[in-house]
Amino acid sequence: MIELQQIEKIYPNPARNFIALKDVTLSIQAGEFISIMGKSGSGKSTLLNMISGIDRPTSGTVRINDVVITELPENEMAKWRGEHIGIVFQFFQLLPTLTVIENVMLPMDLCKVYSWKERKERAMDLLEQMDMVEHASKFPSALSGGQQQRVAIARALANDPPIILADEPTGNLDSETAEAIIQIFENQHKRNKTVLIVTHDFDLAARAQRTVVLTDGRVSKDSRREHG
Ligand code: ADP
Ligand code: MG
Repeated sequence: MIELQQIEKIYPNPARNFIALKDVTLSIQAGEFISIMGKSGSGKSTLLNMISGIDRPTSGTVRINDVVITELPENEMAKWRGEHIGIVFQFFQLLPTLTVIENVMLPMDLCKVYSWKERKERAMDLLEQMDMVEHASKFPSALSGGQQQRVAIARALANDPPIILADEPTGNLDSETAEAIIQIFENQHKRNKTVLIVTHDFDLAARAQRTVVLTDGRVSKDSRREHG
């Protein structure tokens, strides 16, 4: 369902071009729950950006279902992404001038998958699932890190995307909050979503069905859990 073919990503640099991804070929089935591990700088975020279409590879193709997203023009890319991919960024990236509920509604406003009437209901529903209803009219700055992350996840799920990408979603959270966040992703997986999580946490990685390890921009390990 997600097919990466010989992805290479080179960041141009006056001194020396930097190869962030090299010959990455990966096939991810719909409904898989995958953790991506690797040292800092190994290319994990770059890989997620290739799948979300936030950035383009220097060479190689990314196909998601029947769409070669590496060939989509930028305007179509944005629309396609909004409907198909939910992204949870490492540092939440909530808009500070919007309230919690406005942040969650934003992807629905941009993509118009849901009617105007449905949007607010759906946003409240998602906040309910994240146990954040009482914070709906607050601004992000009034929330703790874990609360902001739950809002960021609600926003990522706004258009009910089939694919969820999360970049170190528990990296800045205490272990109890991290556990709550992991369970949200596990629940999404149970709902047949494809979930990719970048993490440094071996316990979290072990909860996924499959772990892909990047080393210096290459896939150095790709292993599936035997059971579960
Ligand atoms: P990770 O997420 O595994 O820490 P990244 O994918 O963020 O790694 O980065 C991989 C390498 O590419 C790093 O060495 C980083 O410095 C470099 N890099 C990332 N983004 C850029 C960019 N926009 N321009 C130049 N180099 C970059
Ligand atoms: Mg990163």
